[in-house]
Amino acid sequence: MLEKTLVIFKPCTVQRAMIGEIFQRFERKGLRLAGMKMMWLTDEILSEHYAHLSTKPFFKRVKESMMMSPVVVCCFEGVDAIAVVRLLAGPTNGRSAAPGTIRGDYCLSYQDNIIHASDSPHSATIEVNRFFKPEEIFDYKQATFDYLYANDEF
Ligand code: ADP
Repeated sequence: MLEKTLVIFKPCTVQRAMIGEIFQRFERKGLRLAGMKMMWLTDEILSEHYAHLSTKPFFKRVKESMMMSPVVVCCFEGVDAIAVVRLLAGPTNGRSAAPGTIRGDYCLSYQDNIIHASDSPHSATIEVNRFFKPEEIFDYKQATFDYLYANDEF
């Protein structure tokens, strides 16, 4: 099924000047860019976004790390895009993420792990709406679509 998912290029990626290199992986995969913008995150939006971590000792530190510089938020679309992007990202801890994954190839940290990626259809819907207004999400035909999928795959 065609799905939209949220990706955040974290401050570590902005500061290490690696947005282009990581972004290219999503483009090369064939995902359609549906939305993209740069923004400062606030404690308020992060408390909501990371609510599932609120009892963890590193909660405050993780939020602070996400406010160290602006971030770039993207919405990508594709068949099974949520699971596909999680696979490209790799597991949370960059030190144990496999080579070939984004986190495995580009970081050494549990916290500063390059990107956020929605982890389920439920959270993808909530997260795309949390970071984008409806008019910031663009529906347009992807010129390569017919060459990316067989016609029974979407
Ligand atoms: P993911 O980003 O892989 O979905 P979580 O939702 O569990 O992982 O955690 C959100 C973010 O919080 C992680 O991407 C990472 O930046 C940070 N984090 C999670 N667990 C830890 C940990 N044990 N130590 C440090 N940072 C963590």
